[in-house]
Formats: sequence, structure tokens, C-alpha cells
Amino acid sequence: MEELALLGGKPVLPESLPPYRSVGRAEREAALRVLDSGCLSGFYGSWCEEFHGGPRVRELEAAWRARFGVRYALSVNSATSGLIAAMGAIGVEPGDEVIVPPWTMSATVVAPLFYGGIPVFADIESDTFCLDVEKVRTAIGPRTRAILAVDLFGHPARLAELRKLADERGIYLVEDAAQAPLAEEDGRLAGTIGHVGVYSLNHHKHIHCGEGGILVTDDDRLAERLALLRNHAESVVGPKGTEDITNLVGFNFRLTELSAAVATVQLARIDEHVGRRVKVAETMRAALVDLEGLRPPVVREGCRHVYYVWALSIDARELGVSRDAFCRALAAEGFPHNAGYVNPLYRLPLFQRRTAFGKKGHPFHLSNVEYGRTDCPVVERLQAESLVMFEPCAYELTRERVGRLVRAVHKVHALRDRIPKGERPK
Ligand SMILES: *Cc1c(COP(=O)(O)O)cnc(C)c1O
Repeated sequence: MEELALLGGKPVLPESLPPYRSVGRAEREAALRVLDSGCLSGFYGSWCEEFHGGPRVRELEAAWRARFGVRYALSVNSATSGLIAAMGAIGVEPGDEVIVPPWTMSATVVAPLFYGGIPVFADIESDTFCLDVEKVRTAIGPRTRAILAVDLFGHPARLAELRKLADERGIYLVEDAAQAPLAEEDGRLAGTIGHVGVYSLNHHKHIHCGEGGILVTDDDRLAERLALLRNHAESVVGPKGTEDITNLVGFNFRLTELSAAVATVQLARIDEHVGRRVKVAETMRAALVDLEGLRPPVVREGCRHVYYVWALSIDARELGVSRDAFCRALAAEGFPHNAGYVNPLYRLPLFQRRTAFGKKGHPFHLSNVEYGRTDCPVVERLQAESLVMFEPCAYELTRERVGRLVRAVHKVHALRDRIPKGERPK
């Protein structure tokens, strides 16, 4: 009989998985053409045609508009920049509240702070890990300016419902779709259902150009404000350039021509890049769905999940061993994963100490919102004892390697009674 690698047996994956490399010859050629042109960025920080970027930036934006079916797509140098610009474009004012989930990349919840906005955390659904609409509804108050929803792990949040709620209350829905290009809810693309959507082109995302981001909107006024914020705004645009630019202090969030050229090549193959992860994820799901105590990713009806993260939820009582003990055995088999995602973000020191800028508690002194250490019970439980994450984006996964990943889980599951009980399941 086979033995667990944890107890000296042979690991199912003796070699580490090679990293996935999505850039190839076409990206190299595109980058070289830009280098040969001598123009590595086409932006000018003054109100002229080049205010909106160079030829490669515009080409990328046109291709993004076409693929995502939106009226406006604006490139930025990161999704983090995009989120900050979105907060500025919708007019977050000091003391305004923005409802956010506690499980996301920190950039989501930090973005409102730059405008003095106060993040208010709402708990998530235990199966899709995205915002719970009822929790959002009760979190809305007189000072709420926006809901900042995250399509976490590549699964769309309840976007249509959140948009309806936002419209009813006269607030904005901003979508952080950094992890979810081509995810869908009822045939509509994640990122395009809110008033503004943000995608990431950083090295770890489905498609990338090193660093970069894309903002999308169908709203003329928001698009103009985003374009201004990206490129120094009121400091360089006189009153004749645009109508009202008060309260638009700008940034340099501009994407280079080099990055844009690479991103355009990646975008042309986005269906392939995304499709390959979906296939891996679905194969793994189908092979593991019947194992007692383990729950592979759930896809809500009418949705397309694009699996930035492939998340396994563990029911430790049903399984008979704790998540962490199971993970130790899985790691020994060579299955790369993480026990839990990030600590719920309200635990960040800036929230716990209620000070983001300076020593006087800015911007929290403008608000009565408090942050505990265990504010959202669903996310607390998932992080402490249930979630296991695997990143199908990160590895070059052949059919053979996917087979081994699946076998590793089956093996640990079958032999789980032998795992030394470091801790008892609660
Ligand atoms: C990656 C990520 C970001 C930040 O993207 P950058 O392009 O690196 O700034 C923001 N939100 C989420 C949910 C992300 O996964």
C-alpha cells in the first residue's frame, strides 16, 4: 500500500511545476517595433492630441473596447492606479463611505483612502467568496458613495443585483475585475456591469504586460474624468479644455507604448489564455467533486468562472482532519497551494489604528466607522479553517501534470486517517 509523502512515501509530484510563460515571439516582436520607433511613451502632459497617449496605447484601448463591448477603455499603469482613479472619477469626498469586501488584494480597500474615503467592510458569500448582497444592503448608510465589488478568484460577484441596489440608492458600483477578465454573469462580462470596471495587466494575471491596468465605462462623464486623472488633470488642462475640472488633482497613471504593445498581443489571445485555465480548473473540479469533506469551486448559475484562483473549501468535521493538517500532507506530495488567502483586510494596521496618513488619524477622524479584529464571520472561518487555494494561472500545466495534481488530492484524501493530528478539527 502507498504511503503518504508526509510519512516517508513517494510524492505524487516529485518535481516542482514549471511556471507558466504566456509571452512569446509575438510579444517580443511587438516590443522591438516600439523600441525601433524610438517612442517609448506617447503621452504629453498638456491639452493636445497626445494628452490621450501614443499610437500603441490607443490601439490597445480600441481593441479592449471591441473585445469587452464597452464605449470607453482607458489604459493605466496598474489596476491599483485604476482603482484610485475610479474613486476620484466618481467623486469620493473626505468622509464618504465605500463598501468593500474583506477578502481581496489590499489595493481594493486602500483605494478610497486617497480621497479621504472610508472603507466599510461587508462579509462575503461562503461559496463564491464575493460580496453578500444582504450584508451590503445593511451597510449602506447616508454617507455611502459607492460599492466596490471584487470578482474574487475569477468568479463574478452578484453584479446585476449590486448594480440595481446601487442605482436604487443613487450610489456607484465600481468593479474590481482584476482577477476576472472574461468572467460572465448571465452573458454579461464582469467589469462591464458596474459604472466603472478595472482590470489588471500585472505579471500574475490572466494576461499581462508586466504592469498595467484597464478602466472601462460606458459613461461619457466618468470616462472624461478618468482620462484627466490619468494625466495630471487640472494642473495641465485649462478651463477651455473641458467644462468643470475642479477637484480633479491628477496623477501620472500613464501606460508606456512598450507595455501597451505587449498587452495588445496578449489581448488578441485572451480567449486562449483564459480558456486554458478554465479547462484545467474544470478538469480538477470534475475529478474531485465527489470527495467527502472537500468542496471544489462553486459556479453560480448563469456565471462563467475564470479561475484566477482555484479554491477548495474544506469541511474539517466531515473530512475528519483539519484544513492545516490536510495541507501539510498535500504539500508533501508536491501540490503547490496555500492554506487560506489573505488575512481579512480590516486587520491591517491602518484600519486597526484608524490612521492612514499623518499622525492625526486621517481620514478616519472624519468618520465613526470602527474596525474590529473579527468583523466578518464568514471570511474569518474560511481563512482560519476552510479555504485552500491553488493558482492555475501560475504554472505550465500539461494533462499529465493536472492528472498528478488530482492524484495527489485523492491520495491524501484516501489516507487522511494517517495524517498526524497536529490539531483536532473544531
Ligand atoms: C492584482 C489585483 C489588483 C492590483 O492589480 P495591479 O495591476 O497589480 O495594481 C487589484 N485588485 C485585485 C483583486 C487584484 O487581484
